[in-house]
Amino acid sequence: MLLPFTGLRVNTFCHIHGPTWLTWIDADTTETNDNDPPKLKVPNAGVCHKNGDTSPCTNCEDEGEFTTKYDDERDIPLAKTWNNFNKGGHYDFTTQELGLRKLCKSYFKVTRDDIGNEMIAGDGISEGTVNKWLKQIAVDAQIGLERGLTDDARFDEKVPDVYPHDMRGTFIMQLIRNNMQRTKLIKYTGHDHVSSLEDYEERVADETDAREFLDHI
Ligand SMILES: [Zn+2]
Repeated sequence: MLLPFTGLRVNTFCHIHGPTWLTWIDADTTETNDNDPPKLKVPNAGVCHKNGDTSPCTNCEDEGEFTTKYDDERDIPLAKTWNNFNKGGHYDFTTQELGLRKLCKSYFKVTRDDIGNEMIAGDGISEGTVNKWLKQIAVDAQIGLERGLTDDARFDEKVPDVYPHDMRGTFIMQLIRNNMQRTKLIKYTGHDHVSSLEDYEERVADETDAREFLDHI
């Protein structure tokens, strides 16, 4: 859930969990202390928490710490609800509750007192594991109609040919569907330039229907 609703690159996801990655101070509150929505803090660089210690993993060896792809430091608000457009016609979205904030509080920690807890217990997580989880979710959700199915040695059956990076596309498409201005949007995706959004905009454009056209003419 974190991937499609924050648009994190999976490598970032695998690295930045830790004491600095959420703006919560008090895990018992739903908002942060300044009444601002809690945010996921993506740093330019930070301690590598992979492998259960703070020494750099093989990917981070050269830099000595984890660095993001484009120095794209950003804060991403954690959504409480989302508009599910997969519910009929173009305007027929349904606003649904998300458990994202609660999950963020309970899933990640490096030390005992960190906001975030239990799931990866400070050991970090590998891209392969995230990939496997996503494929399991895709199996359960029966998605993959567009991508088709693929073999994966970790499963007894063919699985949808989807990758964690696809969830970043899902995040971008969702913001475009909800008409976020593209110059604002890239502040949350970490893209350098709005031109990177064109493929996604074309896909969302395919969802435009006659009723929407009438609103614009
Ligand atoms: Zn690392």
